[in-house]
Amino acid sequence: MIRPILRYGAPLLHAPAAEVPRFDAELHQLIDDMIQTMYAAPGVGLAATQVGVPLRVFVVDISVGRNSSDLIVMVNPTFVERDGVQLEDEGCLSVPGFNATVVRPARAVVRGCDRDGTERTIEGRDLLARAFQHEMDHLDGTVFVDRLRGIKRELIVRKIHKLRKSGRW
Ligand SMILES: [Zn+2]
Repeated sequence: MIRPILRYGAPLLHAPAAEVPRFDAELHQLIDDMIQTMYAAPGVGLAATQVGVPLRVFVVDISVGRNSSDLIVMVNPTFVERDGVQLEDEGCLSVPGFNATVVRPARAVVRGCDRDGTERTIEGRDLLARAFQHEMDHLDGTVFVDRLRGIKRELIVRKIHKLRKSGRW
């Protein structure tokens, strides 16, 4: 089932998520829905907080469905290592129509569980490292706009505010 994606300003999007307590049918349904929602959008990643579920789960596929081995499901993930710096344009399904350059690590190693609770560690470089950091941020209630500073952030927030006022957000 495709779930509606919360947009910037929705309270649940900005709240930190809790650890997943059980690897049960409800979790599997959530993960299946998240994968379907990510591909339908389409996007390279989706966090549970973006569909209003405050649990530490994200899905990432930098091939956006073209290569099934690129699909990564992470439950209760933590960073093992992060290093380097990359500066690239970034967007978010919860902030449609806006992009900005965000500073991210060039390499990020994430450890977490798959849908059945089996632990694994995955190394991401470049786009995958960026996706890991972006989705991990979501699990802490942080959206890429929150990572921007000064006038860049102000401009986006002001435009979103206007869109919301006019009922177009
Ligand atoms: Zn996002």
